[in-house]
Amino acid sequence: MTRRILLALACVCTVVSSGTVIDAQALDPIRYTLRFPAPHTHYLEVEAAIPTAGRAEVDVYMATWTPGSYLIREYERNVEAVTASAGSRALAVAKSTKNRWKITTGGAANVTLRYKVYSREMTVRNNWVESSFAMLNGAPTFITLVERAARPHDVRIELPAAWKRVETALLPVSGSSNTFRAADFDTLIDSPIIIGNPLTREFTVDGKRHVLVFEGDTALIDADRAVADVQKIVVAARNVMGPLQYPHYYFLNMVTEAGGGLEHKNSFLGMASRFMTRTDRAYKGWLGLIAHEYFHNWNVKRLRPVELGPFDYENENYVKTLWVAEGFTDYYADVLPKRAGIASRDEFLDGLSDQIEQVQTIPGRLVTPVNMASFDTWIKQYRPDENTANMSVNYYPKGAVIAFLLDARIRNATSGARSLDTGMQWAMQRYSGEKGYTPEQFYAVMSEAAGVDLKGWFAKTAESTEELDYTEALDYYGLRFRPVDARNARAYIGGGTRNDAGRLIVTSVRRGTPGIEAGLNVDDEILAIDDVRVRADGLAARLDLYKPGDKISVLVARRDRLMKLDVTLGPEPGRAWRLEPLPTATADQTAHLNALMDGK
Ligand SMILES: [Zn+2]
Repeated sequence: MTRRILLALACVCTVVSSGTVIDAQALDPIRYTLRFPAPHTHYLEVEAAIPTAGRAEVDVYMATWTPGSYLIREYERNVEAVTASAGSRALAVAKSTKNRWKITTGGAANVTLRYKVYSREMTVRNNWVESSFAMLNGAPTFITLVERAARPHDVRIELPAAWKRVETALLPVSGSSNTFRAADFDTLIDSPIIIGNPLTREFTVDGKRHVLVFEGDTALIDADRAVADVQKIVVAARNVMGPLQYPHYYFLNMVTEAGGGLEHKNSFLGMASRFMTRTDRAYKGWLGLIAHEYFHNWNVKRLRPVELGPFDYENENYVKTLWVAEGFTDYYADVLPKRAGIASRDEFLDGLSDQIEQVQTIPGRLVTPVNMASFDTWIKQYRPDENTANMSVNYYPKGAVIAFLLDARIRNATSGARSLDTGMQWAMQRYSGEKGYTPEQFYAVMSEAAGVDLKGWFAKTAESTEELDYTEALDYYGLRFRPVDARNARAYIGGGTRNDAGRLIVTSVRRGTPGIEAGLNVDDEILAIDDVRVRADGLAARLDLYKPGDKISVLVARRDRLMKLDVTLGPEPGRAWRLEPLPTATADQTAHLNALMDGK
């Protein structure tokens, strides 16, 4: 934000692949100019002035994925009209791999690369350009040199006349309007940019400026209410993780009816609904997203698994501890609104119960350990299919539940003197920044916080498919799972369906259900039960006519061939994983739960 900060960042030294230490300040920046000559066509035009250091050829590339969203996305598919020149001389530029280009420089000290980017994907990891605004992410926008050096990257944005402002956590270059500097390519990739006429609010915590930004259809957003509550979440998170380590922080919200959020070091980019401050449920959901993404500024952006840096932006970066990076963050997304005074005790317990239920009702929890679900995120987490629930476990809820159990473990083992907060603070002190942690180091620091060796505990919870043990946590906090009355259970086939233009199509069949036993298949069209037609929206009502144990005949069409399946209906699994306080909770147990909820 200030010159002083810019200089401090520019002096960072780095080790290039040859092992030579070079001073980033010695490297000339790549200078980008972004233009929007026809934003209604969804195109962004990029001009990049690239220093060549006199080389005859330079290789440039575009990242294929964005940190935080672990799937190769092939952003280069939206790039077109790539040309290069030196002054008025056109240079040869040839595509060398799916996401790389080779420029023949003719000895020029600087070359200019020009290209257009089609920008019409409203997700937190891609670009969107339309007549009234632009949302840009680093990975799908900037082509850079193939090198490991920490070279500065400058971005100058030419605004269409109707757009007034640029909102980004990138540091502005003083004296140049709408010009920003990233100390290195990582910072550029890590800094989404919103351009248009956003609605903004600001607040200060510990002397640091926080900017709440809404772009899109903002007419119904109650920004004053939102900014007050976001500030409370910032304070609650600071009380867990310690000093604020960013120069400033931007909460970037696209009010576009899309979903998702993505963390960055000094900002987050999230999707919101125009109605999100209109109902309690939507509003608290949004605040939960804010708590999650904001907490990431410590957990994963500054305290990270060792594998997540330096990033290889062209290949998968395999990591086994995303259950810490995402799951522990999700746990705190439940905890922080309670500590901030935004959520009630029952809402807090409901949030935790949702996490537990998501783990305990997934057959795949008995197939894949959560550390391997993390490792395979590149092929599974972002590519769910009809069998995902049967073979894998989601590391978000399972990590959150492990955090809940670990918090109880540490509090119980230290008689309440320490907590998961302590473990996270110590991990931050030891492994933040360039270091990163291995799984073993993470286990060790948590063991230290607990005062007992937790290696075996982590081996069971995070590295095996053993069922999680809730006994200690329930007993410590005086909680129980709400008893379920099985006598009133509804009849149940198992498996998901969808209404496909009036046809009732099976979308998934879960392991251990009557449906899979009877041979029901994904893509079967259910036509009738006991020879009476079932309409696409009528399955639940029809099953209500039966009881668990009843035998029914289900007529299905499989690839247009009709067949009857004999199904013995089971009991619909009740919501057996809902936490509630024990009616007989002792004063000590209640005090333990209050300490967790109050951040003591
Ligand atoms: Zn996350």
